[in-house]
Order: sequence, then structure tokens, then C-alpha cells
Amino acid sequence: MRIGIIGAGQLGQMLGFSARDLGVECVYLDPSDQPPAAACGDVIRRPFDDPAALAELAATCDVVTFEFENVPVEALHRIENDVAVYPPASALQHSQDRLAEKQLFERLGIPLPGYRVVDARADIEAAVDALGLPVVIKTRRLGYDGKGQFVIRDRTDIDKAWQAIGGSALIAEQWVPFDYEVSCIGARNVDGEIAIYPLSHNVHEGGILRTSRSPVDAPVLADTAERYVRTMLEHLDYVGTLALELFVCGEKLLANEFAPRVHNSGHWSIEGSKTSQFENHLRAILNRPLGSTDSVGHAGMVNLIGGIPAVARNIGDTYVHDYGKSPRPGRKLGHITLIRDTASERDELLDSLHRNVTQSSV
Ligand code: AMP
Repeated sequence: MRIGIIGAGQLGQMLGFSARDLGVECVYLDPSDQPPAAACGDVIRRPFDDPAALAELAATCDVVTFEFENVPVEALHRIENDVAVYPPASALQHSQDRLAEKQLFERLGIPLPGYRVVDARADIEAAVDALGLPVVIKTRRLGYDGKGQFVIRDRTDIDKAWQAIGGSALIAEQWVPFDYEVSCIGARNVDGEIAIYPLSHNVHEGGILRTSRSPVDAPVLADTAERYVRTMLEHLDYVGTLALELFVCGEKLLANEFAPRVHNSGHWSIEGSKTSQFENHLRAILNRPLGSTDSVGHAGMVNLIGGIPAVARNIGDTYVHDYGKSPRPGRKLGHITLIRDTASERDELLDSLHRNVTQSSV
């Protein structure tokens, strides 16, 4: 079996490690110089939409998948008649445009924050009138890790927001005073079998994920999130792993966004689940039975951003993942996972680890 993976970043690398365990070969398409997944298979160093490279993947692979959201949808359309491509292009299309994504949530009855489309400066004024302050203005396309976003706290910010990101297609979104953020990750195979992971509680700073912990002691929220993810997987006739990010407001969940791929908030599943999200993604696209998503303890994950300080490697009984990327401010270079018997032990260690690596990385 040979899988083609568009993108050879850390997600491709972790997919590659799982593939090796399953006896599956990976080949990647990525133009970058020394991508992390080069450790796991050959890399065709061509642009993501290079016709000859895509044809090569289609001709030599049993199935093609992708590891990041900004793969041009046309690249998938180009090969989908020649080789199985999972997740489906329609899922990618919805996730690439915040408006299409929100309209999908609406169609599926998944609650979401109030929003307005912004095409002109006057639309921001109207959105502030309709939604109240604060509002966050986001580019509809190509935003990630909080990039392409501007929070308007009072009306004098409107000009600044327009100067900063005006001109691109935008949406204005109500600022949600959430209690905390969660994600729910699910996988579906070609036959339609579904497996859902326990909720993950995620903390972002500056728009970037810092820590995740799972499971979360909130059974009603977990049931609701599972229902939303199942609805999405079925509606999209989805194959692979999908992550839905949600804001928790009391007993309510509001959908923020979804990712049609393995997700940073599920990295804990490598050691913290009977079957990792990476393995279940591969099982799903190979149409094998999915593995159990049961937790094997209380898992915590802290991202290593901008640098990997010595302290990160010197704490016993933790799992350090170094993606082999060169350091750059704001860049995700690795993560650490820890598993403990109780949530309180996990939280205590995770919080101190987070403080230590953050202080040492800046
Ligand atoms: P996003 O790229 O849209 O996922 O945004 C990154 C992070 O910014 C989210 O995980 C939240 O922590 C925060 N954020 C984004 N949109 C909102 C919102 N409407 N209300 C409150 N926080 C938000």
C-alpha cells in the first residue's frame, strides 16, 4: 500500500510515523526545502498544484490525502477521477472559506456566533450595529493561528481594522465571551464507520494553540459535540479525520471552525488514546476498521513554539516530539505530551510545563 500526502509538515510526519507502524509507504508533495516529513518518505519537491507531480501521485499511490488546509481545491479535482482522494474536496472547499464554513454549520443546525459578511468599510459599521462590541474581523480565506484577524473593541478601531485587512473578502464575527474552548475530533472510513475522540480542552494565546487536555469532565457537552461531528461527517460523506473547534458558553457550544485533517488539538492521542488520530486517519482512508478512541489516562499536551528550551527535554515521564524544524518566532517546532492517572496531577504538571517552556522560549 502506498499513500500520497499533499504537504510534508509535522502533520505529514506524524501520519508517516503511523503509516510505518501499519506497513504503509508514504510519498509526499511539498515544495519546501527540508520538510519534517522527509524523515518518513520520498518528497516530490514541486508546488502543491503542479500537474505533473499530481499525476505522478495519482499513478503511483493507492489513495491520496492532504495534511493542511490551503491545498488548492483544484489540485484535488485534477486527480480525483484517477485515484481515491480523501477527505473529499467539498470538505476542503468549505473549510477554506469562513463564509462557506459558517453557512454549512447553519445548514446542519450547528449553533455558531453571530456574523456578517464584510465587503466594504460600511459593512463593518453595520456589523458593529447588529452584533454589538467587541467584534472580530477575519479574512475569509488563508487565515490560520489567529492570522488575518482584527478585534474591534470600540468604534475608533474600525478604520484601523479596515487599513489592516480591508480589501480582502472578510467576515465580522461577534466576540464570544466563552468559558473555555474545546475540540471534538472524529474519523469516518469509506464504509461509513465512525469513531469519535473524547473532548479536548484547548487554550490559545495570541490565536495559537498552547495546550490541550483530554478527556474533559463535561458529559453533556461531549455528547452534543459528538452529535455535531457525526452530522458533519455524514453530511460531507467524509472519509478521514476531522476536527471541530467549539466555544463553550455555559451548557451551550458554538462552532468556531473545522479542519478537514488531523489536528494539533489531537496530538495527545498518540500516547493518550488506544488509537491515535493519525492512525485512525490512515485506517479511514484505507477503509480499514477504525481503532478504539478510548483514553488511556489523563493526557496533556503543550506546544513548543518558537524554540525548544532545554527544560522541555529534561522532565521525566513525558513524551517529547521534535519536528526537526528550524526555530522561528511563532513557529510550532514540537510538542510534549504527558499522561497521568488523574486530571489534577495532569493539570498541575501541564500548567507548570507550559509556564516553563513559555518563559524559556521568549
Ligand atoms: P480562529 O483562527 O478563528 O480559530 O481563531 C483563533 C483563536 O482566536 C480562537 O481559538 C479563539 O481563542 C480566538 N477567537 C477567534 N474568534 C473568536 C470569537 N469570535 N470570540 C472569541 N474568541 C475568538
